[in-house]
Amino acid sequence: MLISDFDGVIVDGMEEYWWSARRVALSMLPAGAELPEPLPEPFRQLRPRVLHGWEMGVLAASIAGWAEPASAFAADYSGALAASLKRLGWTPQQLTTALDAVRRGAIADDRAAWLALHRPYPWMLAALQRLDAAGEPWRVLTTKSAGFTAELLACHGLRPQRIHGREDGPKPEVLLRLRAEGLWRDKVLFLEDRRLTLEAVRATPGLESVVCCLVSWGYLLPEDGEALPPGLALLRPEQLEQPLAQWP
Ligand SMILES: [Mg+2]
Repeated sequence: MLISDFDGVIVDGMEEYWWSARRVALSMLPAGAELPEPLPEPFRQLRPRVLHGWEMGVLAASIAGWAEPASAFAADYSGALAASLKRLGWTPQQLTTALDAVRRGAIADDRAAWLALHRPYPWMLAALQRLDAAGEPWRVLTTKSAGFTAELLACHGLRPQRIHGREDGPKPEVLLRLRAEGLWRDKVLFLEDRRLTLEAVRATPGLESVVCCLVSWGYLLPEDGEALPPGLALLRPEQLEQPLAQWP
């Protein structure tokens, strides 16, 4: 059984992240705030640190000069995030609501344009299509909302057995529930591009049977692929050409 993260593993959504983060920030900042339309480099560099989509609105506010500077996020991400929320007077709930509204609006206005901001990684698309063709079940475990994820997968003809979205809770908890439900008997592969999430899974009692794979093509920090602890394997695009049983 394969369980895969979505953003940065199945789909490269960097263009959409900035597109929506920019709109979220501009909808919440005072009138007159400005942000460039092309993806700014500090946003690209900080994106691997993002755990929840709402944090991207705060990064955009930082780039607009209304929150802690990008250098503060690079030095202490969670500290700068908390300080920025305080300074802006924003809550994660407000930001999540604004992000969902921006995305719903984009799908309603021009669905094709919004979908085109997401590019599936070709090797992942091919591997998942092979699983679908062989009738082998796979699932998605993401911090994105399940609805938007389903929309994006459907437009590439992909058919996961189920999507576990942000509504289902933290990833280690979802995996524990799936194990308790008997979803896998011997081996399950979990694909992620966020090393901290894989380390949290490794540290969760009861999830020892999960084979944790850090995908080499995702939104990794420069040091993420180095000195991987036992139980954490690096997965490269060429390995996906092998049958699933020969992946790590
Ligand atoms: Mg990811």
